[in-house]
Amino acid sequence: MTRAFYIGRFQPYHNGHQVVLEEIARSADEIVIGVGSAQLSHEPGNPFTAGERVLMITQSLCNLKCPFYAIPIEDLRRNALWVSHVIAMTPPFDTVYSSNPLVMRLFAEAGTRVFSPSMYERDTLSGTEIRRRMLAGEPWEHLVPPSVTRVMEEIEGVARIRSVALSD
Ligand code: ATP
Ligand code: MG
Repeated sequence: MTRAFYIGRFQPYHNGHQVVLEEIARSADEIVIGVGSAQLSHEPGNPFTAGERVLMITQSLCNLKCPFYAIPIEDLRRNALWVSHVIAMTPPFDTVYSSNPLVMRLFAEAGTRVFSPSMYERDTLSGTEIRRRMLAGEPWEHLVPPSVTRVMEEIEGVARIRSVALSD
């Protein structure tokens, strides 16, 4: 039994995340998805709440042939204790999939097996680029799963990104 762990902020969840998770599903029995910086929302770099991000993930992965758990994880701001913080919040896992150097380093030091998935079309499949496009009124829908577009409509995500970028 292999339970894999994958973490991101998913601001928003996009096709790069989807490709990686579909790949993990081929080798793992279950996947734990950490929704990082869970306490943040309504700011330009972190517009969506943890609950909204859980919705994007759950709906985009509804056809995945692998059970998964999306768990919000607040920032601890204490890297030396961060792995314990994650473990305290998640179902037990034995393998971590991450290409983030800090995440890789912290789990490796804790003795967890770490795999590093490759990046897909990183120029456009990036949360930063998708938020930029939403703000600028450029096309972004083709960079996310259809479910994410529907969640954006439900929560008026583009209008929110534009409001929180304004100043008084
Ligand atoms: P941001 O620009 O807001 O940081 P992001 O696209 O990097 O957004 P994150 O939520 O930070 O998204 O990413 C979570 C994990 O997904 C990270 O480990 C990141 O390396 C990985 N990831 C992001 N984009 C891709 C991609 N295009 N292909 C594969 N993995 C990706
Ligand atoms: Mg990132």
